[in-house]
Amino acid sequence: ALRPALCPGPALRPALRGMRHLTTSTQTSESGSLLTGQPLRIVAGKGAMVYDDAGKEYIEAMAGLWCTALGWGHEELVEAAASQMRNLSYYHCFAGRQVPIAEELADKIISLAPENLKGGKVFFGMSGSDANDTQVRVLWHYNTIRGLPQKKKIIARAGGYHGVTLASGSITALPHVHAQMGLPLDFVRHVSCPSFYRYGRDGESEADFVRRLAAELEEAILKEGPDQVAAFFAEPLQGAGGVILPPAGYFPAMREVCERYDVLVVGDEVITGFGRTGQMWGCTAFQQKADFLSCAKQLTSGYVPLSAAIIPRFAYEAIEASTERRGGVFGHGYTYTGHPVSCAVALKMLEIFERDQLLEKVTQLAPLFQQRLLGLSAHPLVGNARGIGLIGAVELVKEKETKQPYDASRAVAAKVVQFALERGLIVRALPHDVVSICPPLIVSAADVNEIFDRLEGALSDALAALESAPCL
Ligand code: PMP
Repeated sequence: ALRPALCPGPALRPALRGMRHLTTSTQTSESGSLLTGQPLRIVAGKGAMVYDDAGKEYIEAMAGLWCTALGWGHEELVEAAASQMRNLSYYHCFAGRQVPIAEELADKIISLAPENLKGGKVFFGMSGSDANDTQVRVLWHYNTIRGLPQKKKIIARAGGYHGVTLASGSITALPHVHAQMGLPLDFVRHVSCPSFYRYGRDGESEADFVRRLAAELEEAILKEGPDQVAAFFAEPLQGAGGVILPPAGYFPAMREVCERYDVLVVGDEVITGFGRTGQMWGCTAFQQKADFLSCAKQLTSGYVPLSAAIIPRFAYEAIEASTERRGGVFGHGYTYTGHPVSCAVALKMLEIFERDQLLEKVTQLAPLFQQRLLGLSAHPLVGNARGIGLIGAVELVKEKETKQPYDASRAVAAKVVQFALERGLIVRALPHDVVSICPPLIVSAADVNEIFDRLEGALSDALAALESAPCL
């Protein structure tokens, strides 16, 4: 009886051939990146390189799923996990128990947090999705305590990615996450994607575009009723939606609207946290003042699962006071909340991050990375090249002048990804024929040049393939 529900749609089918488990299907359905229909089986990694089961070497220019900041096989992270496992392999934070290493990590994260979250608290989970679910639960609980139990709606943006659980998957706005699921659930509304390149109107300035989006947000809040809207969720830059950087002044304008209607801002820093943009936090890079902040991925360099939902002091104190008054508990927590092995790896990752001055390294390498990225603008397939720090993307078009995309059936970005694989480079195809690049933070200048040399080659391979079969 379950078969129809699990049966993949046409776009998914090739990606699933040869797979023994279903978990990667959502990641490939939109991008259609597996043109060959065979999964790429990665069996080993060292530094910025990974190796498939045939022994072929690839530069992993996506840091896995935007997460492996320190690259593969970092002995100090391995040792941190192993020694923690020997000492205390597991304990929990329920019913009056606490794991000291989780407290230590929470203190460390708060010491690194943006100024307005310095007095905050950290709730640990296992994934970006559950961190965002936690934010929703905290927001709802906080509003109930404030006597505003109906203030539950979440506004997010088209192209946003916040996870795939039923709450975070509803806040996400990518069609393949919603399709066949009846999502988004009714507590979520979406406003426009902030891509000026794609959605700026003819003759509209960037400043006018920002004004239009802020007015749209205000309209959405008023339509629902400000007493119904709890929060505005936004990634500092939209990652999985296409590495979309906000236009200048965007976040301050959105924040002003939020403040007018007592709508709190949740910054989703699952990709941008810990140096990706050249700043510790993406919100600093884009003047996004976030009341709540979610992070994960680079926190452990992807070695073990861990997420952190940073909760502001004002919400925490209200919840704590109410809990004491009513003798109840905030009924939220996972078996693996504050898992000691994950916390040990994260503490080691942050120690290495500071000791090896990775933030400074990203800042030093970013000009070369961005210069090589912008250099791709000259390629006939590239309509737009954009990025910041060590993250970037190219958006591929049929006609640069009009920004006309290729027909989706031509799977242009997926072709580029496939040709890149042949050249020993892992990049990722995203919706709207975007190809993203997000290498481990430990890459060298030579690696960066190699990444862009290979990507340029893959773009030309794809162009030649398109021209040799113009009607396919
Ligand atoms: N938020 C953002 C910004 C993300 O990029 C992701 C994952 N790519 C998530 C949340 C969800 O994280 P996870 O896959 O760990 O649930």
